Amino acid sequence: MKSQLDIPALNLNDDARFMTVALREAAAAAEDGEIPIGAVIVYKAKIIGRAHNQRERLSDPTAHAEMIALTQAAAYLSSWRLCGCTMYVTLEPCAMCAGALVLARIDRLVYGPADPKAGACETLYNIVNDKRLNHQVEVVSGFMAQPCREILQDFFAAKRQKTQKPEDGGGRDGVGNVCL
Ligand code: ZN
Repeated sequence: MKSQLDIPALNLNDDARFMTVALREAAAAAEDGEIPIGAVIVYKAKIIGRAHNQRERLSDPTAHAEMIALTQAAAYLSSWRLCGCTMYVTLEPCAMCAGALVLARIDRLVYGPADPKAGACETLYNIVNDKRLNHQVEVVSGFMAQPCREILQDFFAAKRQKTQKPEDGGGRDGVGNVCL
């Protein structure tokens, strides 16, 4: 687990505050029946993007919380370059989102638990710190991992209770395989 906490602009209390907002977004996703992942983007201590997973609602495989938050932040700054921004997200980003973070030149990423089935910031790949790419992201992993994990576990437990049988053979049930 990597942890770099020597960030001048934000301290641990700020990180906890913004991750709590990301958790609220995750809860909103759960209410909509979406896998509960939330993301927040902060620039100069101000939230300029906040979103939750909307893959089902939008029928869009790219509608991950991180992607939607990136689009919002870029619109706010009127720039695709998100230099000076930090993303908070309640699960380790996937390959798509990690790639988008690099493309956005985001400075810093703070995420909750690792995703053993799709994580691309340390677990399966390390896209955000691949020296072959032209941008690297400062990463804090495992931040507030427990509440982030719990919201996923609760969601899947409730879903299992409702269905009482494996769903459609899609194999995306379970906290470790959320594909987000
Ligand atoms: Zn993703």
